Amino acid sequence: AERLVVVGASLAGLRAVEAARKAGFTGAITLVGSEQHLPYDRPPLSKAYLDSLDPGVRPEAPVFRTESYLRDELAVELRLGAAATVLDTGSRVVWVGDREVPYDLAVVATGAIARTLPGTAGLKGVYTLRTIDDAVAVRAALEDGARAVVVGAGFIGSEVASAARKRGLDVTVVESLPTPLVRAVGELMGEACTSLHRVNGTDLRCGVAVAEIRGEGKVEQVVLSDGSAVDADLVVVGVGATPATEWLDGSGVSLDNGVVCDATLSTGVSGVYAAGDVARWHNPLFDRAMRLEHWTSAAEQAAAAVRNALDPASAKPYQTVPYFWSDWYDSRIQFVGVPQAEEVRVVDGDVAGGRCVALYRDGDRLIGALTINGQSVIMKYRTLITKRTHWRDALEFAESRRAA
Ligand code: FAD
Repeated sequence: AERLVVVGASLAGLRAVEAARKAGFTGAITLVGSEQHLPYDRPPLSKAYLDSLDPGVRPEAPVFRTESYLRDELAVELRLGAAATVLDTGSRVVWVGDREVPYDLAVVATGAIARTLPGTAGLKGVYTLRTIDDAVAVRAALEDGARAVVVGAGFIGSEVASAARKRGLDVTVVESLPTPLVRAVGELMGEACTSLHRVNGTDLRCGVAVAEIRGEGKVEQVVLSDGSAVDADLVVVGVGATPATEWLDGSGVSLDNGVVCDATLSTGVSGVYAAGDVARWHNPLFDRAMRLEHWTSAAEQAAAAVRNALDPASAKPYQTVPYFWSDWYDSRIQFVGVPQAEEVRVVDGDVAGGRCVALYRDGDRLIGALTINGQSVIMKYRTLITKRTHWRDALEFAESRRAA
């Protein structure tokens, strides 16, 4: 292979490029990104970037690598500020604007796009948070005295609520499901997340949806499905993300809530691989297809996809125990594994006390673990899950930790 084209210039795209050079690939690399910016890190956007209170200090964009490093050290041709519009797998070209970029190997790393609420287009004061430009706008809107409504108590919505509370703003979070993070951690631990919001003075309203966002040109009020209304100066919508696959329609690459890949991250279309938030691949460790929106797997998948693309004869499956973290107020929530459990058991600390460890069981296997402020132990459970540890042994391990 002589020409590698990586589409999507964020975490996965950058890691794909770095892995190619590390593996000794000396051919041409083109990195195509629709944002103007160099690849940057997203997790700080809803954390440190929003938290910083000094209005005179504009926080730095969390860029991973300088332009000269990418150009000179990695010998990458950057094509930023232009989206790929077509993947022509027959003639092996990616269309970027009106230019054709030929490839031998292509890595799709176009990530995901924030979902919006219908009927809010053009209404000022309504934001989503996915890009650095979004974060700049949200940060500017979190001004003194602003009343904030956050729609969706997932990671991003809850982190925005935390940042707004740290600034002393009145915050209402509207969540249509029974608890925050219910899809990610299940209902019992969702309750623990509920109490993090409540003790920090956030008005969390679960089981109710947004019926209407009212305002003349600018948001004024959010009307909920139970008939209540909340006055708002800004609304941040955190209702999930959709994989950015529209540009692949008609390419022959199979799409189903993401780019469908096998365990080696190959799309099955010759020379085309995918990684990161856009990829739905078969994770052998849990024997199921997954599409994760987590930092760690996005970075790892990109490296794995490129290694497999460069040497398909010895392609290795990518398997992982999903891992994410999220910072709420002064607490760190971490989760490893999958939450579809028959039983969730708190094995250390207590939910109301702001520090706990909970384990997730499916059959007789440990499949997940959640900690709130349990940084030192979470990766140990990740290892146990990787080893397909028996539930009984996991409980014994928890007991020994508690005793220590
Ligand atoms: P993305 O980062 O989505 O990047 C995809 C890039 O491709 C984008 O720049 C996009 O503009 C570009 N693109 C899209 N379509 C095209 C096209 N047609 N042509 C060219 N370019 C295109 N994860 C955690 O584990 N922990 C956290 O605490 C955490 N916090 C987060 C906070 C925020 C605010 C956000 C937004 C995400 C957070 N995440 C977190 C998730 C993590 O950032 C993502 O998993 C990671 O960014 C995925 O990287 P990616 O490269 O696959 O996709």
